[in-house]
Amino acid sequence: MSFGDSVPDYLHDCLATLTIDLSSIIHNYQHCLQLTGGKECAAMVKADAYGMGIAHVAPALFHKANCRTFFVASLAEAVKLRQILPEAIIYVLNGVFSGQVVYFIKNNLRPVLNDLTQAALWQAISAENRPACAIHFDTGINRLGLSPMDTTQFINDVSLRKELDISLIMSHLACADDPDNPMNARQLADFEAITQNFPDIPASLANSGGILLGPDYHFDLVRPGLLIFGGNPSKGAMPKNIKVPFQILGKILQIRTIGTGQSVGYGATWTAKQPRHIATINIGYADGYPQMFNNCGWVYIKGTKLPVVGRVSMDMIGVDITDANPQEIGPECDVELLGPHITLEMASEVSTLSQYEILTGVRERYRRIYI
Ligand SMILES: *Cc1c(COP(=O)(O)O)cnc(C)c1O
Repeated sequence: MSFGDSVPDYLHDCLATLTIDLSSIIHNYQHCLQLTGGKECAAMVKADAYGMGIAHVAPALFHKANCRTFFVASLAEAVKLRQILPEAIIYVLNGVFSGQVVYFIKNNLRPVLNDLTQAALWQAISAENRPACAIHFDTGINRLGLSPMDTTQFINDVSLRKELDISLIMSHLACADDPDNPMNARQLADFEAITQNFPDIPASLANSGGILLGPDYHFDLVRPGLLIFGGNPSKGAMPKNIKVPFQILGKILQIRTIGTGQSVGYGATWTAKQPRHIATINIGYADGYPQMFNNCGWVYIKGTKLPVVGRVSMDMIGVDITDANPQEIGPECDVELLGPHITLEMASEVSTLSQYEILTGVRERYRRIYI
């Protein structure tokens, strides 16, 4: 649901658009499958499928790409996904708390159990109506999952392990984006040692970055998010076959010519060193284009990459279009702020925001077009 959905068709032209190409998302998912040589590939669809719209993305992956397993962060996200996909396997990363048990059962949701209290809570439910569960072992990220001490205790508690219907054991890498970081091999060794105790249960370690670390990291199931949505999860080169499935297009509202010494935007933080042509675009921080792009963002207009000048306003940015062909550019002209030409990687580099933050920061105000 975006603001654009509630606007009558004849007003759509005045909104900036977010176009999401579901076939490219499916393509990227299938590429993840290829990279792992046919291991099971789950889809991370937390945070409204990284801002791309879970109501569209999840059914496309389920029906067109045969993806059966989905991970979300919270129970609320899981209940929403269950209404969309009655048959999917849904894991809830945040775990389960006592007041939530009834909703896990009612919606057939699998908790990712993160500590011994949650394991005991789940064990206490009568087995006939209790969904399966995942066990998350913390191997060093120190975020969620059983601590090393709890891990030992859990492994030694044979009756608990038998009673729980464990469908997955997992851990999460802290530095998967950096192939040279020795922490990857350390976490891999620790997780491998844990898996020895669960020979019959599928295991999972890799997020998108982990997939690119190679087959040792793939185990039975991988959990990509960013790669499906066209980001580069690694400091290394982007896998060639990944497509950018989204494009944010704003429009030029007005163009003006300014003289040497004149400034653009709030705070007058950018000053022209020579006469410049400045276009004002209808996207600002209220759309999820943050002020981290002040005086350093880039946009793409009719084949030319052009710089953002001045501060990002709530609803607008200024762009120096002097280097573009003035005959081709005028009011209502399309402007790419993010997409195939202005990639997440590029935007992340200039803004110092992570690709994840830029993507999930995309707001409601766009008119969304799914193709
Ligand atoms: C978000 C998340 C992922 C997916 O990470 P990407 O880097 O987007 O592939 C995988 N596993 C866990 C536990 C996560 O929280």
